[in-house]
Amino acid sequence: MIVKEVTDILEELAPLGQAESFDNVGLLVGNSTTKINGILVTLDTLENVVEEAIATNCNLIISFHPIIFKGLKKITGVTYVERVILKAIKNDIAIYSMHTALDNSTNGVNAKICEVLGIQNPKILIPQKGSIKKLTTYIPKDDAEMLKNALFDAGAGAIGNYSKCSFTVNGTGSYMGEEQSNPVKGEKGKLHLEEETQINVTFASHIEQRVLQALFLNHPYEEVAYEVYSLENKDQNIGMGMIGELIEPLNEYDFLSHIKLKMKVSVIKHSKLLNRKVKKVAVLGGSGAFAISAAKAMGADVFITSDLKYHQFFEAENDIVIADIGHYESEQFTKNLLVDYLTEKIPNFAIRLSESNTNPIKYL
Ligand SMILES: [Zn+2]
Repeated sequence: MIVKEVTDILEELAPLGQAESFDNVGLLVGNSTTKINGILVTLDTLENVVEEAIATNCNLIISFHPIIFKGLKKITGVTYVERVILKAIKNDIAIYSMHTALDNSTNGVNAKICEVLGIQNPKILIPQKGSIKKLTTYIPKDDAEMLKNALFDAGAGAIGNYSKCSFTVNGTGSYMGEEQSNPVKGEKGKLHLEEETQINVTFASHIEQRVLQALFLNHPYEEVAYEVYSLENKDQNIGMGMIGELIEPLNEYDFLSHIKLKMKVSVIKHSKLLNRKVKKVAVLGGSGAFAISAAKAMGADVFITSDLKYHQFFEAENDIVIADIGHYESEQFTKNLLVDYLTEKIPNFAIRLSESNTNPIKYL
């Protein structure tokens, strides 16, 4: 197996195109054609994680957080980031990062938190904007069905829990081939009218190349007439945070104790308890202060996240209980999620869960 084969499998779970624009995801160190001996899955790539990879003969590190986040002008080993990169390169170890591509996945970081805490029917809390596109094309009536199916196979036409969504209209297309043309229907130099079907489908912007390839491969015309639009609609299958329900409502104290136990947290910082039953719960692994208002707007009783500042706890406003469970703690099971996913996809391969606890924060 080569690096690219593994990262292609990971892209099915978390397409890099759905990562946030500020992020730095994908293959950060190494070559995509390198043959892999073993894979080590970690939350952060620190020096001791690279050492663990060397000791366990793993030459691909799958890291949730990207070790390179902003531009580097020197790699001299002065900072921990530079030392990690140097050590990885010296030892022919590739590093691949998923970060917000996996945060934004319906089977990612937050789905895992929901699973661990027993939160049912989780849905995206803040659906992503600007990631849906629409294709409109025109094709001779008899070929329309074939093209439509090819577009569906490429992943177009998925809306929420529905697939193969499209809208078609029949009409008349016109064209006249110029001197250099080779029209499949009609003759060059003569105005031609053709009974055509207009096909409309939406698709996630990160699969645009695949959808257009399906269009060009399955359209009979020499010159394909088509339009691609960016839509303002939000994608309910991509986005930050999730919200779902507990099977049985719990009182707030019991629910916080449940979080402590299941998420292996020694301390929870939380806003004032409101003496209400907890039914609806919103979660956002990692730094999630930006989602407090969304959690409130969606009617969550509790919002679980991390990295909250003093003033952000005031934003609870007696509407919600906000719980800061720690950044590492909130994302720790992401490692397990990735190991389980890869083990299912490539069963006879060395996939290791890193034994390093990379949490830089200690508690007294
Ligand atoms: Zn994080």
